[in-house]
Amino acid sequence: LLGLESGTVRFGGRPVLDAVDLGVAEHEIVCLLGPSGSGKSTLLRAVAGLQPLDSGRVLLDGRDQAGVPAHRRGVGLMFQDHQLFPQRDVAGNVAFGLRMHGASKGQQAARVGELLDLVGLPGAARRAVAGLSGGEQQRVALARALAPRPRLLMLDEPLGQLDRSLRERLVVELRELFGTLGTTVLAVTHDQGEAFALADRVVVMRDGRIAQSGTPLEVWQRPADEFVARFLGFDN
Ligand code: ATP
Ligand code: MG
Repeated sequence: LLGLESGTVRFGGRPVLDAVDLGVAEHEIVCLLGPSGSGKSTLLRAVAGLQPLDSGRVLLDGRDQAGVPAHRRGVGLMFQDHQLFPQRDVAGNVAFGLRMHGASKGQQAARVGELLDLVGLPGAARRAVAGLSGGEQQRVALARALAPRPRLLMLDEPLGQLDRSLRERLVVELRELFGTLGTTVLAVTHDQGEAFALADRVVVMRDGRIAQSGTPLEVWQRPADEFVARFLGFDN
């Protein structure tokens, strides 16, 4: 479904993404792991069309996305700091992407209800965003990202600001939800436990390159090099 070929992004001459090749198959859940500054968010932004590549290309369903604007790529992106609109209620936030795709009022309301059920916030449509807990806000952001039925959902630290017990619960729910919907997911996380619980495949990044890609079990049992091993918390 997604192919990033030799994707390169430079900031001030320094490659932040360094000729990265990454494929994501339909229905696959891939988690990007790696230290701060290794290029994870930049990779997502490049695929979404929010960050131009200096070289290489992004393919979706085999089609080169060069020149295709972000809102025409059919990918959903949930940012690191989920960036809800504080002045809109929950429904207004979730429906945001639907309005852009030209859905009618009735269609929007039905879809919003469906999405809120899905993320475990039934009946929250008219609540003010500011009055929601962190976890509830994350769920609203997720519903908003899912609303236009993106063929590829990209999540940047979707559970980043939540406490551990809530994260552990949500990650199980997410895995189930994506399985049911058949969503293809590319997610960034700092937390290896989260990555291992969520992902079909884990991709570890280092300095703008892919240090290792494999199933959680493969990466855990056979880290490709010392960097990956250290990153995973092995001491030698
Ligand atoms: P984190 O885990 O902290 O979110 P990350 O892996 O997502 O890190 P990126 O946000 O992709 O890292 O950033 C990679 C590198 O590119 C960092 O060194 C960052 O400072 C730099 N960078 C990102 N965006 C820009 C920009 N717009 N201009 C200049 N440098 C940038
Ligand atoms: Mg980031």
